[in-house]
Amino acid sequence: RAPIVAIDGPAGAGKSTVARQVARALGLLYLDTGAMYRAVTWLVLQSGLALDDEVGIAELVSRASIDLTPTEVWINEQNVTQAIRSIEVTSRVSAISAQRAVRRELVKQQQQWGNKGGIVAEGRDIGTHVFPNAELKIFLTASVQERARRRQQDFSVQGEQSVSLQQLERDISERDRADSNRSISPLRKAPDAIEIQSDRLSIAEVTERIVNLYQQ
Ligand code: C5P
Repeated sequence: RAPIVAIDGPAGAGKSTVARQVARALGLLYLDTGAMYRAVTWLVLQSGLALDDEVGIAELVSRASIDLTPTEVWINEQNVTQAIRSIEVTSRVSAISAQRAVRRELVKQQQQWGNKGGIVAEGRDIGTHVFPNAELKIFLTASVQERARRRQQDFSVQGEQSVSLQQLERDISERDRADSNRSISPLRKAPDAIEIQSDRLSIAEVTERIVNLYQQ
């Protein structure tokens, strides 16, 4: 079987950037599972379905086709790369990803990626649920304060309207709480995952640590 590196952790810990770089360094595919939950959330919001209409949402998701390219996210032939990062999607994604039918469908698609070749998969339940037999499991964390600070920096780099640090801390804590408290595959460190606390580490340092762990 092709090798799998699982990187889990709370919102804004730097998983995407790090996972991308680890994938490049190791010559593996990069799988952003959060982008899949975000794309489905975008589709639900577009559809006008009520967010608690689990039957309608299950039907919608079962017919949806999601495509992830190295730089873009598509759902039903629509490029949603930018749209899935909106505040609206971000504030709704935890509720949608807590639904059983949504997870069942997306986990199935994620596991199919594992058949394509070696991957670095990033999310909340990769090491615990999607790929419990991964070669290497990382649990990447940082303090809420540090994660909010990094988010704010991202926003200013993208030239977007600034959001207060307090507001960002509240949003991040709220999403962590929702993702940790749902009944199906909540955000958890797998018992055999290696935790990396990244408050005082650069992206390059975290990447290097993971690449070294993989090559050991
Ligand atoms: O990582 P990202 O912030 O893009 O994830 C968006 C949301 O998708 C998370 O807050 C969580 O609700 C959901 N998610 C999940 N399981 C994953 C990846 C993401 O439930 N494996």
